[in-house]
Amino acid sequence: MIGFRLHLDATRCDGHGICAFVCPDLVRLDPWGYASVAQTDGEGAGLMRRARRAVAMCPAAALALELLE
Ligand code: SF4
Repeated sequence: MIGFRLHLDATRCDGHGICAFVCPDLVRLDPWGYASVAQTDGEGAGLMRRARRAVAMCPAAALALELLE
């Protein structure tokens, strides 16, 4: 099983909200549209694909994915 950890640099987040739309399993938005990571660790190809998409689509480059051993 593929394990990973999602990191959010909240100082970079501009509140575009794309991440929560693409990967609602891991990311939540506050009432102003700013992201927080509801669950940092995940596993499985499907969840990792959504997390990768959220990282790639964030216009502020606020998200990063770390692969776990
Ligand atoms: S897509 Fe990026 S900038 Fe937008 S809410 Fe998510 S982390 Fe923040």
